[in-house]
Amino acid sequence: MSSRPTLIGENGLRHDHRRPDELRPIKMEVGVLKNADGSALVEFGNTKVIAAVYGPREPPAKYMLSPEKAIVRCRYHMAPFSTIERKSPAPSRREIELSKVIREALESAIFTELFPRSAIDIFIEVLQADGGTRTAGLTAASLALADAGVPMRDLIAAVAVGKVDGVIVLDIDEVEDEYGEADMPIGIMPSINQVVLLQLNGVMTREEFDIAMDLAMKGVSEIYRLQKEALSKKYMLYTEE
Ligand code: ADP
Repeated sequence: MSSRPTLIGENGLRHDHRRPDELRPIKMEVGVLKNADGSALVEFGNTKVIAAVYGPREPPAKYMLSPEKAIVRCRYHMAPFSTIERKSPAPSRREIELSKVIREALESAIFTELFPRSAIDIFIEVLQADGGTRTAGLTAASLALADAGVPMRDLIAAVAVGKVDGVIVLDIDEVEDEYGEADMPIGIMPSINQVVLLQLNGVMTREEFDIAMDLAMKGVSEIYRLQKEALSKKYMLYTEE
């Protein structure tokens, strides 16, 4: 067993030298896969996630279709090489649960009623896991949906805040997740101010929760800005022509 690392140093900085309110370096790229209708690659520090979208389309199994709206299917999966110890490729209970939570968040953003009798399939593959994979996955999936041209109420920007050594911090990584006191992933549609995913593991006081929400909102607005920048990087080329 490794000893518990110091999460907040005497200088007030985190184990990776970030300030409590600082995001990891973020990279986003849209349209990274040729064969999917929409795709995006998102990195939060060492966490790397790719998302691919197919649809809206007529799925092979028609019995599951709805005459009222598109059905949304989502698979969150961690690649066997994404963790330090090889992960079994078979879907775990955690991955099944996360697929559901992420699907519900995305479903609330999509105008599914515009596409009756069709399906929208979303695949999230974690390439490298270092904390915050569900929030990076949600961020990437909403970009991939936008890339596929799926109409949405807004993009979803997501990040995990947490409590480490008694301090509320933004965008926790795996070490902070493992040794910290609380972990709160949150997904928001920023321009309409709607929360679509909120989970909390651990304990926070009501005051700490308010600080964590404020910090999450700050992080989310920067993530949202980067999402729009990534989309315009691909699509501005066409408008300028
Ligand atoms: P999230 O990735 O959304 O923070 P968790 O809080 O469940 O989700 O996981 C935190 C981190 O723990 C992950 O990002 C990953 O780095 C690590 N982790 C999760 N599941 C596994 C696993 N089966 N094997 C190894 N590491 C894992």
